[in-house]
Amino acid sequence: MHAYRAALLSFADDGSARYEQDGLLVVGPGSDGRKVIRAAGSYQALAANYAGVQVTHLPGKMLAPGFIDLHVHFPQTDVIGSPSEGLLPWLEDYTFPHEARFSDHAYATGVAQVFLDELLRNGVTTALTFCTSHPHSVDALMEASQRRGLRMIAGKVLQDRHSPDGVRDDTRQSLLDTEALIRRWHGQDRLGYAITPRFAPSCSEEQLRGAGDLAAQYPDVWIQSHVAENKEEIRWALELFPASRSYLAIYQDFGLMRDRAIYAHCIHFDDEDRALMRDTGAAAAVSPTSNLFLGSGFFDYEGARRVGFRHGLASDVGGGTSFCPFHTMLAAYYVGREGQTKPGISLSPQNLWWQHTAGAAQALGLEGVVGNLAPGCEADFIVIDPHATPLLSRKTTHARDLDELLFSLIVLGDDRAVAQVAVDGVITSGPGRAPA
Ligand SMILES: [Zn+2]
Repeated sequence: MHAYRAALLSFADDGSARYEQDGLLVVGPGSDGRKVIRAAGSYQALAANYAGVQVTHLPGKMLAPGFIDLHVHFPQTDVIGSPSEGLLPWLEDYTFPHEARFSDHAYATGVAQVFLDELLRNGVTTALTFCTSHPHSVDALMEASQRRGLRMIAGKVLQDRHSPDGVRDDTRQSLLDTEALIRRWHGQDRLGYAITPRFAPSCSEEQLRGAGDLAAQYPDVWIQSHVAENKEEIRWALELFPASRSYLAIYQDFGLMRDRAIYAHCIHFDDEDRALMRDTGAAAAVSPTSNLFLGSGFFDYEGARRVGFRHGLASDVGGGTSFCPFHTMLAAYYVGREGQTKPGISLSPQNLWWQHTAGAAQALGLEGVVGNLAPGCEADFIVIDPHATPLLSRKTTHARDLDELLFSLIVLGDDRAVAQVAVDGVITSGPGRAPA
């Protein structure tokens, strides 16, 4: 066992944050040999119980759960920051040509390493990510994630129509490949598979039906897709699937809405769509930097809360502009505030942080597994330096309460504030690597 003494941030079941100014985090082997959190709380209360355990003292630092990115495209790591006239031109001009390069396994492996480095540098320890339509793009990411001991969820994109040569897949083969990848990777170490229709307009009815059949056959596998991102896309989806009540309902009609189904964006919803999310247990991956970058619209937080469906935060790189969770949380605050196209509300700093950690874990059905510093959770955590830059240090020093402290980090923080990252109990980046 090993323990860390520092300030400690965690979350209660109701989503409110818990903060210990002088905390202790005890990490040790769990029942399956994986490193878990054995205790987390005040140093004074816990120190005597763990008297023989070596303690790394981190004065001035803050321990927090590793961030969870609910929606990202690892093959678009190099597409970040590509200028375009909105979603559909951005796909055609940048994304599809770039993804075509992933037919080369070695190229996919190289990008996977850069992607994982970038996630960890930013304190993200779990992500739900798209790969490309090429099956070995999944192998490349899973192999790299497995070597690093990461809890990572990914899937091969399904897109058998309205897609150019180089990324379009074959209906029958794409479903055989998906099932083979589920069997190869789902449940291996900390890896999980996600059935991944790109979005309804890129999939034939036969492909969506096959995806729904696999979702029923493998109920603990995840599902990920996009929905209701922009109005042009919605019009197109409804032209292609005239029998469905709404864009979201297309997925329901093909058996693709259930627990562990994560839909990116979910912007242009009515209350029937919101109720469908709630009633099926599906969750929204809110992607604010992407939505602002592509001008897609503003996620309606008031509507999500009023009807009550699961949601959490995502970078959506390469449509999103940053891997950094602080930037994503700040963008979510802007999106929440916007009050011209929907009700504007102020998201609390605690809620923003929850959406990127324990709330995101709940959306994935992984509460109590990742996203929190609570006994039994896997030991993925970060060491935050509230003094990483001069203005951040000044603001956090003068913070009068937890909300002021967290909001200073959200507004002023970036990768420099992520001093160290621990994966499976081992500090893997930053100075002072220490074993658990
Ligand atoms: Zn996306």
